[in-house]
Amino acid sequence: MQNFFDTEIKFLQGVGPKRAELLAEEAGIRCYRDLLYYFPYRYEDRTKFYKINELEPEMPNVQLQGRIVAYHSEGRGPGKRLSADFEDETGRIRLTWFRGIKWIPDTYPAGREYIIFGKPGLFSGKINIIHPEIESAEKREERIVSAFQAQYSTTEKLKNHFITSKFISRITGNLFKMMNFKVPETLPAWLIQKYHLMSLHDALFEAHFPSRHDVLEKARYRLKFEELFYIQLNLLRYKSHRDTHVKGFVFSRVGDLFNRFYYNKLPFELTNAQKRVIKEIRKDLGSGRQMNRLLQGDVGSGKTMVALMAMLIAADNGFQSCIMTPTEILAYQHFRSVTAFTEGIGIEVLLLTGSTKSTERKRIAETLEGEKPVILIGTHALIEESVRFSRLGLAVIDEQHRFGVAQRAKLWEKSAQPPHVLVMTATPIPRTLAMTLYGDLDVSVIDEMPPGRLPVKTMHFTDNERNKVYGFIRKQIAEGRQVYIVYPLIEESGKLDYRNLEEGLDILTSVFPPPDYCISVLHGKMTPANKEVSMKLFRDRQAQIMVATTVIEVGVDIPNATVMLIESAERFGLSQLHQLRGRVGRGAGQSYCILMSPAKISKEASVRIGTMVSTNNGFEIAEADLTLRGPGDLEGTQQSGIAFDLKISDLARDGQLIEYARRVAASVLEKDPTLTDEKNSVLRNELNRIFARKYSWSNIS
Ligand code: ADP
Ligand code: MG
Repeated sequence: MQNFFDTEIKFLQGVGPKRAELLAEEAGIRCYRDLLYYFPYRYEDRTKFYKINELEPEMPNVQLQGRIVAYHSEGRGPGKRLSADFEDETGRIRLTWFRGIKWIPDTYPAGREYIIFGKPGLFSGKINIIHPEIESAEKREERIVSAFQAQYSTTEKLKNHFITSKFISRITGNLFKMMNFKVPETLPAWLIQKYHLMSLHDALFEAHFPSRHDVLEKARYRLKFEELFYIQLNLLRYKSHRDTHVKGFVFSRVGDLFNRFYYNKLPFELTNAQKRVIKEIRKDLGSGRQMNRLLQGDVGSGKTMVALMAMLIAADNGFQSCIMTPTEILAYQHFRSVTAFTEGIGIEVLLLTGSTKSTERKRIAETLEGEKPVILIGTHALIEESVRFSRLGLAVIDEQHRFGVAQRAKLWEKSAQPPHVLVMTATPIPRTLAMTLYGDLDVSVIDEMPPGRLPVKTMHFTDNERNKVYGFIRKQIAEGRQVYIVYPLIEESGKLDYRNLEEGLDILTSVFPPPDYCISVLHGKMTPANKEVSMKLFRDRQAQIMVATTVIEVGVDIPNATVMLIESAERFGLSQLHQLRGRVGRGAGQSYCILMSPAKISKEASVRIGTMVSTNNGFEIAEADLTLRGPGDLEGTQQSGIAFDLKISDLARDGQLIEYARRVAASVLEKDPTLTDEKNSVLRNELNRIFARKYSWSNIS
């Protein structure tokens, strides 16, 4: 039976090889199963007819019956269009076509009755429908209509080959017609019964050919539940396997290093959130299980300190630890601050990046092979073959969303037994998304900022208000503050283009001329040595302005900088804007984030900018981002290793169902952790089928 659903789509009645190719390319439909799971994105009511006097311009698609009175040809050149007066007994509207101008009046002659379908709009104060669907009213009797006509998404290319929503509906119908059996269940009978779910066969049929609203809801619920349930079951299965099978080093004591640091060196009081998270981590480290913890905390919440204290515990127990960062700047910055924090307490801190010289590399390699419990800080260079640890006990990954799955995996293999792993991210992820992305990790959240920080004030200015903005910057600089000015990078045919930054720099140099002002520049094309020169210039306050691309997005920490000016802000995504804003507001002074854009920007861009202006809360921003873009585009999801080709559920909308599905999955595993019970064999088979080729990065250990 399984084989039947794997049958290539070209064999389905009405498809054939040519269309099969298009369906595969454009819609990912390769086999019968793919078609069954290609769900409508909406349903239209084709039983209801409206009267013209009921229409309003904000309505969704409507269906009308009436007469085309006359056609008119209007405009010329590219603006040329065809319009028609259409009326019923209650009024008259206008229909408009920009294409098909030649054949429409012949196919649908004026003076007859038609059924039309389309979205009402407003044109010079009158209701108008552009490109309506149209058919002869005589056919009304023979039409197969349902209150829920499934609408499938198609592409321009598919439409050009007459693979329309209607076509997809037809071949799906063909598939059901040729099946003289029910689609086999993919959930165990006991589970279907216990949770009152519709059978798979009925749910699939209803999703494509709904009978009633409430039945459709039940069908979609069953399909969504199943989809989310299997994702959670998969994650939790790995987690439970790891918890029971993978031993973790036991860090039983808090020793001299930690205490010396805590009592003599720690320059500030930890926030309560930091204290809580350190407690959670200590518990993990002492438990005998391998820690796999995600530490979430908004930019500036003090994650590095938490990581440092965990590394000191590792060292107190005789283990080495490392921090991996996505950029050299960040590695160097951590190296500087960790070295300063730990000065004199008796632990060695090493730095390894792509530009570390070979003699230093050799020294590091020798140290790592030895017994000394050092802290190693570095970039991807840490995961190169040649880097070996004798006793790696804790691996910290900073800004983890910047790393690919494979890169993280390599850290696991750096010692005989997997180290404890702490991954840190400042990209706030909505809870439900985190549950799906990192559902196999334990999560700690720092939800409190160090005291005395004023929230950053965010303002939006258009390009013609530039002089006002420069005036503001001049004043800030006069008060001893420093300023970041960030330009977007344009990616063109694979090459990164620094034109924006270069042009901007010319202007800035004339507005803020030497010797009164010094501008330092930072972008990805520079050598690490030059980057460091620029950073130093700014850090030492010799430069008042740093002009940069988004290389400074991650981790740069200069508390005296109080202005973040983002040029062409409309081109940045929400999470990027939020990260950039996080570079200021790190000291005691009031900080500002200034978003510059042209006066005219897209609706989405203005929602993004509006969100930035109205909130500083990373989680609110993440929620907005999720609704704006959908989960597939969120930073971190592409690299997450979890395929996000959800067929029916929506991570932004189905939050409650995700939590529910997770609870059900947990309860299943609690009773049968290995899914070996005969009544759960369906679960095991389905997991293998769904996730066979998908990579789960928790699988690594
Ligand atoms: P992030 O979570 O973004 O990585 P950092 O670890 O870089 O944040 O911390 C931001 C700044 O706040 C650093 O300068 C750090 O030393 C400081 N900091 C961390 N914890 C505290 C605290 N409890 N009180 C005051 N300042 C703190
Ligand atoms: Mg950080």
